[in-house]
Amino acid sequence: MKKIIIANWKMNPKTSREAEILARGISEAAKNSKNCEVIIAPPFVHIRAVRSVKLGAQDVFWEKSGPYTGEISTLQLKAYGVSLVLVGHSERRALGETNEEINKKIKAVLESGIKAVLCVGEIEKQKEVAFPVIIHQELKEGLRGINKSLLKNLIVVYEPVWAISTHGKADSPKNVFEMSVLIRRELLKMFGKKTAFSIPIIYGGSVDEKNAADFIKYGRVDGLLVGAASLNAKKFIEIIKRVSEL
Ligand code: PEP
Repeated sequence: MKKIIIANWKMNPKTSREAEILARGISEAAKNSKNCEVIIAPPFVHIRAVRSVKLGAQDVFWEKSGPYTGEISTLQLKAYGVSLVLVGHSERRALGETNEEINKKIKAVLESGIKAVLCVGEIEKQKEVAFPVIIHQELKEGLRGINKSLLKNLIVVYEPVWAISTHGKADSPKNVFEMSVLIRRELLKMFGKKTAFSIPIIYGGSVDEKNAADFIKYGRVDGLLVGAASLNAKKFIEIIKRVSEL
């Protein structure tokens, strides 16, 4: 299976021109990599500027259309060629997004045929509660009542909030491996072996050109979610190259 590398640009860059230049800079490396699937999730306003690379989105609303000021639907994302949506990113959770809302979004995205990337991860570096309490609950509530047949389009990202570059330092590949095993075990309990093993589990949190390959090699994850380093074409291309060489 190809490794998945998702760029989360967050609320950057300022102009569409800058977005276009950045995307163009990355597009060749993305196309040339035979074993990586590279997706850029820009802010909605830059979606047109990023056509040279596979497109993702950072959020979505669960209704298809109607009186929902400020929201964007899966139908609209599809019309722009978006193939993947981040759901439940910790920065959205911090703004008040609940597991119940995340569950509605995951359902809407999967039903639309777009890939959903469910973000899970503990806020503080506390091993005792990270899995049994927080991640367990995020998976259980975020994926509640989802039709098993739709899960072929689900990706889970383990992204501990304390490891995001604006909060702290990257997790260790060893811990990422342990957490991904626990996540897989939970998916197994929820959906059975076949489905659980078909869901890619990726890692996010201060990934850069120096540590990217180790997360894949020793953390044994199926891909990476990259924030800050994805805003620097040189760094992001190096991440793609190093993972491609594995
Ligand atoms: C993120 O917040 O999704 C992320 C990957 O950020 P960073 O790489 O900057 O830690």
